[in-house]
Amino acid sequence: MAVDPLIELRDVNKHYGTLHVLQDINLTVGRGEVVVIIGPSGSGKSTLCRTINRLETVESGTILLDGKPLPDEGKDLAGLRAEVGMVFQSFNLFAHKTVLANVSLAQIKVRKRKKEEADKRSRQLLERVGLADQADKYPAQLSGGQQQRVAIARALAMSPKALLFDEPTSALDPEMINEVLEVMQQLAQEGMTMVVVTHEMGFARSAANRVVFMADGKIVEDRTPEAFFTAPESERAKDFLSKIL
Ligand code: ADP
Ligand code: MG
Repeated sequence: MAVDPLIELRDVNKHYGTLHVLQDINLTVGRGEVVVIIGPSGSGKSTLCRTINRLETVESGTILLDGKPLPDEGKDLAGLRAEVGMVFQSFNLFAHKTVLANVSLAQIKVRKRKKEEADKRSRQLLERVGLADQADKYPAQLSGGQQQRVAIARALAMSPKALLFDEPTSALDPEMINEVLEVMQQLAQEGMTMVVVTHEMGFARSAANRVVFMADGKIVEDRTPEAFFTAPESERAKDFLSKIL
């Protein structure tokens, strides 16, 4: 497949002390592509995600966004994190701000939008994630699934080039998982570039263009979901799938 690369990692390496947590990572995510990252706990999935919006630095290798190296320290980082939004397992909403203010805040601070303009866009996005009537509540008044949809709206409010999801449904009660996955599925259909760490294999099968399987800091397989799930090549992947499916 001819891809128009949006995110490129080339020969990326990182250690935590003696732990070689990312080992010669090469990964290209094309514009509009959905890449699902799976693998055992501790294999480096979160670290990989976090390097892409520079929540973590790397020791060697190159990471390009839209052909340009990620910025170093400083205020360009806020811009980067607007361009590459991240949705965490733990929602990370501001508890003392309303839902609307949560979605508007970075639009005003980082994108320099006027409050009225930001709030208008926030309401549109809240409607898109099915939360139009929750704008004036505080996060604690919402269910986990609703909070995670607010977090997605907040990331979308920055008009990101790509979104990273790190186990977005792992902290949710089972009955709330689908309402979040449905929003993600919709974004995928609309052409959003997404990197998604998840154990939701149904989502991987239906939304992913590629599945990347990681183990021990390495990318072990990088294939279509169809190929990966029907015929995993490595023993590590076979073993992993036998435990979760
Ligand atoms: P995954 O998301 O696949 O479960 P992580 O990327 O969170 O894996 O972690 C990979 C490895 O790096 C684990 O062994 C973890 O304990 C270790 N690790 C993660 N973050 C840190 C840190 N800040 N300092 C030291 N070790 C870390
Ligand atoms: Mg993780």
